[in-house]
Amino acid sequence: MFKALLVEKNDEGKTSASVQDISEDQMPEGDVTVAVEYSTMNYKDGLCIGPGGGLVRTYPHVPGIDFSGTVEASEDDRYKPGDKVVLTGWRVGENRWGGYAEKARVKADMLVPLPDGLTTRQAMAVGTAGLTAMLAVMALEDQGLKDGPVLVTGAAGGVGSVATAILAHLGHEVAAVTGRPEQEDYLKSLGATQIVAREDLTEVTRKPLEAELWGGCVDAVAGAMLGRVLKQMTYGSSVAAIGLAGGAAIEGALITPFILRGVNLLGIDSVMQPYKNRVRAWGRIARDLPMDKLEAMVQTATLADLPGLGRDILKGQVKGRVVVDVTA
Ligand code: NDP
Repeated sequence: MFKALLVEKNDEGKTSASVQDISEDQMPEGDVTVAVEYSTMNYKDGLCIGPGGGLVRTYPHVPGIDFSGTVEASEDDRYKPGDKVVLTGWRVGENRWGGYAEKARVKADMLVPLPDGLTTRQAMAVGTAGLTAMLAVMALEDQGLKDGPVLVTGAAGGVGSVATAILAHLGHEVAAVTGRPEQEDYLKSLGATQIVAREDLTEVTRKPLEAELWGGCVDAVAGAMLGRVLKQMTYGSSVAAIGLAGGAAIEGALITPFILRGVNLLGIDSVMQPYKNRVRAWGRIARDLPMDKLEAMVQTATLADLPGLGRDILKGQVKGRVVVDVTA
């Protein structure tokens, strides 16, 4: 038996989450069993702990979209017992059991070896949010960052915090957008040099274009803010769009930034990244993410804390990254 956060659905369709002892017979099929050490809390986990938001296919369900730990048993030549591994993506924690358990069984293709220089805890302090932030930065680099500060929206959240720290560490000027003015000191400690109030960018205007302000952007918010930001991008610059914490619709006079300023909108998806890209991004994280800053953005939780934290993250009330110590 081992401990897991199990989400169950009753006959009326209502879900509830609680920490329970479950047996190995209940685990999904897979060729590698991992003794999970750490997982994290992300926006999607908040959805999966609650009514599922269309992500969870079958109940009972173990959420947790990423984890790190040690291989306990493997039928695949690439991994042997004792190897340290990391998992992100593949819809683990959504349509198959995830990391909120002391054990996880997955396919070997879903894992990457823990990168040199990172502990299992640091890897999850980074987690899916940090990996996505790095993929966004790499996409902006591939297009070429233009003159002007790089804007990060949803900056006090998980992806935004890591993106801010990476970009600042790489020497870029970072303008951090937040709806929480009390997080100004935190964002400056991560390296942001300019704080932009959320309300300055959420008002929808009729103007087709505005003054060119940003040499690049990592956008976690979409909605009205993305419509506004696109009009303020420098000629030929790029926006790496990673999330929609502020809504799925983009509002405003949309086409003008693309045809009159050659702005690029790059969609970033961490879920289905090929193995090569995941290894490359994790290598860059080990190299380019200042670990002292990473510690400053992390809070640690236990499995029992997760139902409450799941509700908080859906309300945009969680700061930085939440590492789940699964064995605590
Ligand atoms: P968090 O909840 O940690 O951060 C989101 C931040 O967005 C909040 O902290 C808040 O920042 C801001 N925000 C929240 N609501 C609004 C709103 N209504 N209007 C404007 N800003 C708002 O989530 P994550 O950083 O983990 O994830 C962010 C988004 O990215 C989510 O949509 C998530 O599903 C998605 N995602 C996508 C991935 C991918 O592969 N593409 C991977 C990981 C996440 P502040 O308080 O500073 O304003």
